[in-house]
Amino acid sequence: MKVYKAHILFTKERNRFEVLENSYVAVDGNGRVTGVSTDLTSLVADASERRKPGFEDTEIIDFGDRLLIPAMNDMHVHAAQYRNQGIAMDMELLPWLQNYTFPEETKYADTGYAERMYRRFVHDMWRVGTMRNCTFATIHTESTRVLMHLFQEAGMGSLVGKVGMNRNCTEKLSESVEQMVQGYESLITEFNNPDGLVRPIITPRFIPSCTPEMLRACGELAAKYHLHVQSHLSENKEEIALVQKLEPESTCYGDAYDRYGLFGQTPTVMAHCVFTEKEELELMKRRSVMVAHCPTSNLNVTTGIAPIRLFLDEGLPVGLGSDISGGHSLNIFQIMVYAIQMSKLHYQRNHARAFLTLSEAFWMATKSAGSFFGQVGSFEPGYEFDALVIDDHDLNHDNYSLLERLERFIYLGDDRQIAHRFCRGKEIPEPKQ
Ligand SMILES: [Zn+2]
Repeated sequence: MKVYKAHILFTKERNRFEVLENSYVAVDGNGRVTGVSTDLTSLVADASERRKPGFEDTEIIDFGDRLLIPAMNDMHVHAAQYRNQGIAMDMELLPWLQNYTFPEETKYADTGYAERMYRRFVHDMWRVGTMRNCTFATIHTESTRVLMHLFQEAGMGSLVGKVGMNRNCTEKLSESVEQMVQGYESLITEFNNPDGLVRPIITPRFIPSCTPEMLRACGELAAKYHLHVQSHLSENKEEIALVQKLEPESTCYGDAYDRYGLFGQTPTVMAHCVFTEKEELELMKRRSVMVAHCPTSNLNVTTGIAPIRLFLDEGLPVGLGSDISGGHSLNIFQIMVYAIQMSKLHYQRNHARAFLTLSEAFWMATKSAGSFFGQVGSFEPGYEFDALVIDDHDLNHDNYSLLERLERFIYLGDDRQIAHRFCRGKEIPEPKQ
């Protein structure tokens, strides 16, 4: 057993931080938290009662005056758009896809190119302290396999999606339904260990990119192999109108996925949900579909402000996503700040619902998002120990409280303050680039 000592902060509940000064978190050999306490003796005694070895085998690692917090989870990101991060920000969604996104993704037919880009992507995920993610690769099975191997090599968690698409795109980014199924099955054979940190996730790009046959095949794969599902939902009004035209029998965009078994029949995360309301919202609640809120992307691609406060009040699970390259920042701490600021814009227009607070943004990025991967994102007993050690001494020029120190790190800090990263109990060294 290992015991880590530091100032410990996390969000068991969304509206408040747990703050434990000079405290301890105990982690067992399987990488799970057995307890968190200000008192070492009771913590170790408790843990050793439940599991062996006992106190004499306990290693205590003292991080001194540093902060220990749960690691970040990125619930929506396109690994294959990493080269386009921070460029082509002057376009709206559909022309942006045609002119920038699809040409870049075409390059991933070349596994050499894919490896070069994906190495950088995995490295930078590590750098910003994101230990789990849901990512889109491309249609290319072999490059997708490269990305999965890189995450495995790094020891970080990722649900990786080979992208399904066969309409409204160039021929080079289109695959037959049979090829898509075969490609998935070869990845599933290699990676579908239910306890694995890296697993495939069924990823129809979005309704406009997939024929009914492809959507049906995606739903069947998810059901047959018990795989999670990710896609995009209600991001843009033009897109919603197009979905209605393509799937005329659907009663809302979410229903168009639901008809194919892609809306919560297995754990599902949908990015954006800017225009989700009424029926779609009810369906998401019934099916526990998670929202991946991507505020930077919603700003850059000028879609709109997602009603996150409403989703939280309605009890929908919500996580945060960087959505590279619609979003420009990979750093989930920055995404928290944008989420709060976006909600303040929403509040300025409509005072009916309060804006998001820091603890709510932190909770969305950690415990709420982490629930998609199992018990991840908190330091409560039973949770997998995914953690970051923050050395914020360069941000402290006066006596700040621990909570103020965390707030300053979130608003002012960056990866330079992240001193250690842990995923499932293991310290994760810097991946090779
Ligand atoms: Zn996206």
